[in-house]
Amino acid sequence: MRMRTQVGIVGAGPAGLLLAHLLHRAGIESVVLENRDRQYIEQRVRAGVLEQGAVDVLTDAGVADRLHREGMQHHGIELRFGGQGHRIDFAEHTPGRSIVVYGQQEVVKDLIKARLAYAGPLLFEVSDVAVRDVDTRTPAITFTHDGEQVELACDVIAGCDGFHGICRQAIPGSVLSVFERVYPFAWLGILAKAPPTHDELIYAYHERGFALYSMRSPEITRLYVQVAPEEDIGNWPDARIWEELHARLETDDGWKLIEGPVLEKGITGMRSFVAEPMQHGRLFLAGDAAHIVPPTGAKGMNLAVADVRTLARALTAFYASGREDALAAYSRTCLARVWRAEHFSWWMTSMLHRFPSDDGFGHKLQRAQLDYVVKSKAAATSLAENYVGLPFADP
Ligand SMILES: Cc1cc2nc3c(=O)[nH]c(=O)nc-3n(C[C@H](O)[C@H](O)[C@H](O)COP(=O)(O)OP(=O)(O)OC[C@H]3O[C@@H](n4cnc5c(N)ncnc54)[C@H](O)[C@@H]3O)c2cc1C
Repeated sequence: MRMRTQVGIVGAGPAGLLLAHLLHRAGIESVVLENRDRQYIEQRVRAGVLEQGAVDVLTDAGVADRLHREGMQHHGIELRFGGQGHRIDFAEHTPGRSIVVYGQQEVVKDLIKARLAYAGPLLFEVSDVAVRDVDTRTPAITFTHDGEQVELACDVIAGCDGFHGICRQAIPGSVLSVFERVYPFAWLGILAKAPPTHDELIYAYHERGFALYSMRSPEITRLYVQVAPEEDIGNWPDARIWEELHARLETDDGWKLIEGPVLEKGITGMRSFVAEPMQHGRLFLAGDAAHIVPPTGAKGMNLAVADVRTLARALTAFYASGREDALAAYSRTCLARVWRAEHFSWWMTSMLHRFPSDDGFGHKLQRAQLDYVVKSKAAATSLAENYVGLPFADP
């Protein structure tokens, strides 16, 4: 079977779904192809922090009603070390900016609902997806759906298929440069049915390793502890996880963590990764397909939103006037923000985790840095403005 659209989008994560929605609002047709089923992607628990700018993009696109009803707006975070908490106040350090805690799977649900409301093509459970002729003006995506082989002819292909997708591989090795760092630790994360004990996220630096306290709703907490990258989840019964969380998060003034049944647990490796350029011919990569950050800076989903905002604007200019200058500048525009977020995520990760190879020198530097961040207005401002998200840049 042969189909045709203007923009073929591979992947229905936050990047692919939001791009399809922004294009629809600009009167541009697209087809979204996803290899998982709807239920799977609507239940996949991942990121949960939205920068102010990402909230603004979703609001302007008309898909943030539930986000504004159910999301939790935060005006600061806490850094904990040496048995004490130190709040970084966003309002004090940035001009009234904030973040919203709202699960990535909720963003995905809202975007799928919006897409289906206007009957936008969104095909789940596709297989054998491949892209071809990306360096011509007539690229195509081939795939199998409902047992039928399909060729989707497009003007442009958006590779929004995440880190393990196929689109990045369509850029020749002679063109693509990859920059990567794999960290010597991972995060063991749990979702627990326990009411939050604290209103804001807590990033804890402790001799036993990093811990993060966060929440997804007034009933559900999301907690992480630093573990070895090769750690087996089977070695972590719930009681051991809670013991580590208590030890790493609790403070000398008696703050206590509330426990509850563990609903989900898993281990995620930590990696920084950037593939450059993010475009080749008529193929444009967006989100995790092009870059990965360790989650310490809460930037993964936010970068995906920033990429597709840029791509949607460039495609809108292209279809309105035939001009290709904004499209040509796509990779350069995105990479400036990506590398800033890569630096911030690496910096937060390096400051807050125990490094297994450390002989004590690194620990002293980390404590000096943490003391500086909580005492210096300039250092706290730097953390706060990066955390809430820097302004978008247009080409
Ligand atoms: C386990 C985990 C935990 C994370 N936790 C955090 C966190 O706490 N904080 C944070 O900021 N970030 C976190 N991230 C990162 C964040 O979730 C990502 O940055 C975000 O999902 C990027 O969105 P995306 O749309 O680019 O990619 P994805 O969300 O990965 O979406 C890509 C989509 O493409 C689909 N796909 C893949 N291959 C194909 C194919 N061949 N054909 C069709 N479809 C395909 C996938 O099924 C998926 O639905 C986490 C990531 C992971 C993996």
